[in-house]
Amino acid sequence: MKKRLGPVWVMAEQRGCEVETVSLQLLGKARRLADELGVACESVILGHNLGEAARRLIAGGADRVFVGDAPHLALYQSLPYRDILCALVEEHKPEILLLGSTFLGRELAPLAAARLKTGLAAHCTGLRHDKDGNLEQQIPAYGGLMSIVCPNRRPQMATVAKGVFKAAEPDENRKGEIVPVRVPGETELGVRTLEIVQEAPPEIELEEADVVVCGGAGAGSAEGWEIVRELAVALGAALGCTRPVVDEGWAPLDAMIGQSGKMVSPRVYIGVGLSGEQQHMVGVVGAQFMAAVNQDPKSAIFQQVDLGVVEDCRKFLPVLIEKIKAFRKERTFCRPPSVS
Ligand SMILES: Cc1cc2nc3c(=O)[nH]c(=O)nc-3n(C[C@H](O)[C@H](O)[C@H](O)COP(=O)(O)OP(=O)(O)OC[C@H]3O[C@@H](n4cnc5c(N)ncnc54)[C@H](O)[C@@H]3O)c2cc1C
Repeated sequence: MKKRLGPVWVMAEQRGCEVETVSLQLLGKARRLADELGVACESVILGHNLGEAARRLIAGGADRVFVGDAPHLALYQSLPYRDILCALVEEHKPEILLLGSTFLGRELAPLAAARLKTGLAAHCTGLRHDKDGNLEQQIPAYGGLMSIVCPNRRPQMATVAKGVFKAAEPDENRKGEIVPVRVPGETELGVRTLEIVQEAPPEIELEEADVVVCGGAGAGSAEGWEIVRELAVALGAALGCTRPVVDEGWAPLDAMIGQSGKMVSPRVYIGVGLSGEQQHMVGVVGAQFMAAVNQDPKSAIFQQVDLGVVEDCRKFLPVLIEKIKAFRKERTFCRPPSVS
């Protein structure tokens, strides 16, 4: 007899009681996987005052939402979150458990996987299943895409970054069940989150941007990086970066694009002083038109873009920025008066 498969789960995240976009995107994918496998799509959410959030998850595709609601869960606390999630998994035995590749997910997923003695594929860029419910978890590796399968342990756990999947249109008429979860009282914790300090958000979100300027190690210095930033400002573009830029402290981790960073899908991507390593390029596969500036004519980036400029970016960018500014000024002066 064929083994009955468990549901597909999403560990949802909330901030200020609002469901995070990445959780809704995961739910969109979980719904599709669940429909293909003929199982339920369910979600877990922990926090405080979560009535609206639970309804949003049902509107986004969940058949059932497990809600752990208590004042001491309002902020993410790694150990209670792990304990509650693992207890629910042990009771309900999901086939698949998806988490966002976020600050929370990157900590909670390995903690839970270790407790549940199961596998975890981090930062997946694709998910599909075979007929037995084995999840093929795609990650970029060894210069290509590699599929990881966890055939013997359940749940099959994966983290996925924001922007990889699309959320479903919310359907306020969808019916689902909200299941309150018993939350253990506040205990003495080795580690406790006291406050979450939100950095000022960037003016243009990378994942939503139409134009992305992305700088790499070739910027050379903090001063060089400032020129890359000026290009983004002149174009009204979002500013992204590669790993070495984060390591140098020129830009925050939040700006990193790629396998361990953000996934972007702009109309135009301009890569400056970067080599086109696969771990970065996997984050820009959704770009429609790509250009690059690199001083090395043999750089691999030129094999991957539509337009290449072989130049020292610290010399080329200031000239380009002046041209863009002049062009903008001319356009402003030439704009015909609006007809009312
Ligand atoms: C598991 C794993 C995950 C990773 N995840 C990510 C990720 O998410 N995102 C990411 O970005 N990286 C990631 N990396 C790192 C990645 O492999 C590369 O090391 C990184 O992307 C390289 O960044 P870069 O192109 O800026 O630097 P480099 O590879 O050093 O390239 C710099 C380029 O700049 C050019 N250059 C130098 N000076 C100038 C100049 N003056 N003008 C113009 N061009 C110049 C050079 O010719 C060179 O091509 C990951 C690595 C691993 C192992």
